[in-house]
Amino acid sequence: MKLIGLTGGIASGKSTISRMILRRKIPLIDGDLLARKVVEPGRPAYKLIIKHFSHDVLNEDVWYWITGEKIVVLDAPLLIESGLYKWMSTVVVVYVSEQLQLHRLIKRDNLQEHVALQRISAQLPLREKIKYADHVIDNSSELGETERQLNVVLAKVHPTWWNWLITWLG
Ligand code: ATP
Repeated sequence: MKLIGLTGGIASGKSTISRMILRRKIPLIDGDLLARKVVEPGRPAYKLIIKHFSHDVLNEDVWYWITGEKIVVLDAPLLIESGLYKWMSTVVVVYVSEQLQLHRLIKRDNLQEHVALQRISAQLPLREKIKYADHVIDNSSELGETERQLNVVLAKVHPTWWNWLITWLG
């Protein structure tokens, strides 16, 4: 079994790629949801929670969910910052240029430019995150191209992924 960590920056395309992964019937764990599950009242930040939960959750919850599966994707926006990337078999970072990230964020959330810039600069820059990546998916062009890159990554991570793909296409 391989645990693939999927991460990126705000509005870089993680949710878009997660949907592609789900369409392929690959199990996907929503890191945000997982973090909320283990939140206790009064706990302030996701980052802090991740720091404390990695052992317990990985043993009790995650492994429960992944039993019997060959590959499982963990979608976690703060995979790098939290240190959770160390637990992954493979780290995949969804990349776009800062300019495109800003453009998509403004458009998606209807934000003023300075607000969007603040949100982007609150995170570790994507150019830093890709240093931790085993694979980078460049989500700068159309979705078909992103999907093609996703297939290549999955094939590298898990050679028998092609069986999944054939099943999915069939
Ligand atoms: P967040 O971390 O804020 O939840 P995210 O990384 O999950 O963001 P998405 O919501 O998937 O990012 O994508 C951001 C925006 O960019 C969305 O409006 C999405 O529809 C759009 N988008 C994603 N990929 C592409 C693409 N290849 N071409 C055009 N638009 C795209």
